[in-house]
Amino acid sequence: QDNRFQAIIGHAKEYGFVFPSSEIYDGLSAVYDYGPYGSELKKNIRDYWWKSMTQMHDNIVGIDAAIFMHPTTWKASGHVDNFSDPMIDNKDSKKRYRVDHLIEGYAEQLKDKGNPEKAEAVLASMEALLAKDDFSGLKQLIDDHKIVCAISGTGNWTEIRQFNLMFSTQLGSVAEEADTIYLRPETAQGIFVNFLNVQKTARMKIPFGIAQTGKAFRNEIVARQFIFRMREFEQMEMQFFVRPGTQKEWYEYWREQRLNWHLSLGLPAEKYKWHVHAKPAHYADNAVDIEYEFPFGFKEVEGIHSRTDFDLSSHQKFSGKKMTYFDPEINQHYVPYVIETSIGLDRMFLLILSNSYEEETITKEDGSTDSRVVMHIPAKIAPIKLALFPLTKKDGLPELAKELMEECKPHFRCFYEEKDAIGKRYRRQDAIGTPFCVTVDHQTKEDGTVTLRNRDTMTQQRIHRSELKNEILKAIF
Ligand code: ATP
Repeated sequence: QDNRFQAIIGHAKEYGFVFPSSEIYDGLSAVYDYGPYGSELKKNIRDYWWKSMTQMHDNIVGIDAAIFMHPTTWKASGHVDNFSDPMIDNKDSKKRYRVDHLIEGYAEQLKDKGNPEKAEAVLASMEALLAKDDFSGLKQLIDDHKIVCAISGTGNWTEIRQFNLMFSTQLGSVAEEADTIYLRPETAQGIFVNFLNVQKTARMKIPFGIAQTGKAFRNEIVARQFIFRMREFEQMEMQFFVRPGTQKEWYEYWREQRLNWHLSLGLPAEKYKWHVHAKPAHYADNAVDIEYEFPFGFKEVEGIHSRTDFDLSSHQKFSGKKMTYFDPEINQHYVPYVIETSIGLDRMFLLILSNSYEEETITKEDGSTDSRVVMHIPAKIAPIKLALFPLTKKDGLPELAKELMEECKPHFRCFYEEKDAIGKRYRRQDAIGTPFCVTVDHQTKEDGTVTLRNRDTMTQQRIHRSELKNEILKAIF
């Protein structure tokens, strides 16, 4: 599995999906850039989410709030006091670990050595201690099990400390006047502080939602696993405002809606599972993660949180501004309760890459074998939908293929290529996940038909060129 993951990372770079940031300077830890196909795929995932949230729900509208917010926002939200992870340093290697990652790594080793019961017991103790913020207990656990640093091989640890994950910077150019502000660690607060602006201007009635996509920043202690855990990433969040007392039913509703969104992309249900939080974060009365089986195991891709009235009430207290809603149906003013759905765009992107990547061995008609790397990216979000090839560079075939390209490109992303043998061109499109290729040949000149080739089945079918655009549109809707 680890080899497969390394292959996916290599493939993502080689085919222009994801590059390490500032690679010519040896990269920047846990920061990545998206290349030509990556930026297209990322945008398509974002658009697919946005459409399903806003266009398909009459009672959800969008906003686009700034990354910088008034510093008090983060006091009210609890991030200044609570948004931290316990960490520990190894005195010999100077390597820093997130305590839960260190212990989880140890539990994985126990499992590998055929001792899953002990691993489960260690994880259970860890969760109980984390829930109580019992740092000396956690340190004791690390010492009792003689957990060592992978680099130094020693168990010479510092005490456990809290490490706040927010990045701070200064607003204004004059030091004395400068104010410390933060890069937002989540997009949600931009929604909360705008709650009444949106409700009034869009004339929304409860229950209603506000959706937003945008960058978030966290100074993750140990950033690992490629784009799974980044220091700069993008979130797609939706806050759904409901009448107090109805949060449980809306929580259930959004749980189901969100899993169905994943499945609507044709992703396999057996790769998903729920992880219910025994102890939700300080702001929530219910929380569940949607986990997906990444090449490195089941991990969170999305969270659904019942956030109570914590955020709005807290902003009301800190700002002194009313955050209440008048509900005409029951003739009451109240601070709404909130159900949040929060998904990492980059993590979803990694999910798509992990699910799509296949090294396939093909048995040909004559019994010989061949191989290909194919990305089974769902057609509706594939970077390129249709590649157009003239069989040869002469006899007017390029002109015919380009004519078809002009016809299709206002409707979906197309790609034209005339270089190399057809087989090679097919392989290149397989590698970037293009669901359809069409070839124009000499027969096209006679009867107007073209060969349409399917990426996943590799079957070819002759259709009339006048049907091409609609065939593709049907398949990508
Ligand atoms: P984790 O436990 O993995 O650190 P979290 O529980 O802190 O995640 P949330 O605060 O609930 O995550 O954030 C919502 C979503 O944002 C996550 O489900 C994930 O998809 C995404 N996300 C959070 N942190 C990162 C990160 N460092 N890099 C990429 N995506 C992230």
